[in-house]
Amino acid sequence: MNKIGIDLGGTKIEGILVNENYKTIERKRIQTNQEKGYSSILESIQSMVLELSQESDDKFSIGICTPGALSLDSGLIKNSNTQCLIGRDLQNDLKNILHCDISIENDANCFALAEAKLGAGKNSNLVFGVIMGTGVGGGIIINGQIHRGRTNIAGEWGHHCLHTGGNSCYCGKKGCVETYISGPALENKWSEMTNQNQSLSEIMKNSDNPNFDNWKKTFLDNFGLALANVIDILDPDTIVLGGGVSNIDFLYNEGKNTVYEKVFSDIIDTPIIKNELGDSAGVFGACML
Ligand SMILES: [Zn+2]
Repeated sequence: MNKIGIDLGGTKIEGILVNENYKTIERKRIQTNQEKGYSSILESIQSMVLELSQESDDKFSIGICTPGALSLDSGLIKNSNTQCLIGRDLQNDLKNILHCDISIENDANCFALAEAKLGAGKNSNLVFGVIMGTGVGGGIIINGQIHRGRTNIAGEWGHHCLHTGGNSCYCGKKGCVETYISGPALENKWSEMTNQNQSLSEIMKNSDNPNFDNWKKTFLDNFGLALANVIDILDPDTIVLGGGVSNIDFLYNEGKNTVYEKVFSDIIDTPIIKNELGDSAGVFGACML
């Protein structure tokens, strides 16, 4: 059976048709048009599925990778960056339009699944896939399957409390990991220290700035402690980093060492490695649902 995967991003919708060995048959990409609202997103997905299905000479399954989480009670989307999806029953609405079953999963789990099966974690039994971008999320893959947990929050290390009484988080708590090591959090910290509003990639070119070492040390301490806490509980075979922040090279040497210093075990050697699929992890993960 072939597989169609759709990655519903904030700015683009990407679709892929693959065969049973995940070899790409067809690929498409369109603008999300968030401002046109929910019905426009449904129409875009419908036309993309239609186009992809015309290239398929076999039956196919459909999986959707979406930003945000599905509420376990209602099946509705919550906490999504794509605002017009919040509170919507995307799964059933698509089912009604496309007249077939749809699997749907959040982007962190899709990322982790794709990297565990096809990417940087492919020879590991237990993979922790990390997204460090606009937010901080994670997915746990055990023997090729998503581990969702009793209430569907397994892997949500972004909302561990890192500093009691610390930065306020949109989730209503204080001191969450996300408020220290997401892209925007790192940019805010830099702006606080230097009065310069710069993007993360611009900040990385400022290593001769007198504030840089201090900014970097704070970042590494937070990254190290947050990920060491995960290892102490989960002890994964491999940790794969994704999202914009994962492009920072020092995470894979100094960052890794900082994690190791803070882990409970004295024989720690957990690989902490960069993703291999890049932006394609979402569509491939969606195919695998
Ligand atoms: Zn939070």
